[in-house]
Amino acid sequence: MQVSKRLLTALTLSVLASTVQAADEVVVYSSRIDELIKPVFDAYTAKTGVKVKFITDKEAPLMQRIKAEGEHATADLLLTVDAGNLWQAEQMGILQPFTSPVIDANIPAQYRSSTHRWTGLSLRARTIVYSTERVKPEDLSTYEALAGKDWEGRLCLRTAKKVYNQSLTATLIETHGAEESEKILKGWVNNLSTDVFSDDNAVMEAINAGQCDVGIVNTYYYGRLHQQNPKLAVKLFWPNQSDRGVHVNLSGIGLTRYAPHPEAAKALVEWMTEPEAQKIFAGINQEFPANPNVAPSAEVAGWGAFKADTLPVEVAGKRQAEAIRMMDRAGWN
Ligand code: FE
Repeated sequence: MQVSKRLLTALTLSVLASTVQAADEVVVYSSRIDELIKPVFDAYTAKTGVKVKFITDKEAPLMQRIKAEGEHATADLLLTVDAGNLWQAEQMGILQPFTSPVIDANIPAQYRSSTHRWTGLSLRARTIVYSTERVKPEDLSTYEALAGKDWEGRLCLRTAKKVYNQSLTATLIETHGAEESEKILKGWVNNLSTDVFSDDNAVMEAINAGQCDVGIVNTYYYGRLHQQNPKLAVKLFWPNQSDRGVHVNLSGIGLTRYAPHPEAAKALVEWMTEPEAQKIFAGINQEFPANPNVAPSAEVAGWGAFKADTLPVEVAGKRQAEAIRMMDRAGWN
């Protein structure tokens, strides 16, 4: 009797200890590089004492790993970029719904999953860039107009294999329907001055070097390149200001289906949508805070205000397969 009571006490204590330890840490699988996330997690640990462990890799292997771990999950959260990727994770069944009045209040519904499996944390516009030497901003108007005769042999694009372009195409299809969208894509491909590039920086470098006059890139790449080379003869243009607005995508985070520390993970995500974290997280990568009550950095604000497309970003996922097929048909490599 005496022994079993002592054993019970020991067991209770060890269960308590493991619960406390569990709540003191959150594990994040992240496709964002360490420099972009560590300062945010360090600030959280300093504030709460909760440790944030993270593993960094490309999104596809991370998602496969979560899937393979199944119920023996080690990751609580998946942090990645583009609604197209987050939607993929959702489709793989590796995320679980989580609701929070804090997140609902901080992040507009268009930047969250309608099934509550992920939320956006920072925003980036995928917009037009142009040569300040060969293009006047008044020559530009919309993404669609880049398919026109005026731009023959003057356009540079990144590869269709990149999810960013698949998401942009998905929103085109949502807006214009399949037939019209395919015409636009064919127009773009027809207007290419050279083969597609493997990244957004190369698109801007090509414009700067005179290889082409216009392109489409994510805003933070523009910010980084300008930091490195302030003389870059390339500028941002905000298209579609008199209709649907600029295509905006995000970085975001989802709760894994078998997260070992779901409550602690949720608390971290809630904090990441609050002003203190939003400022750090968006600021490091020259992105826009997803919380509209938080101002972007002075540098990002300097690019000027613009009207953003109001489509829910998960459209990027829903129409991803359709977009990939269409890009292929249009000859966008
Ligand atoms: Fe990127």
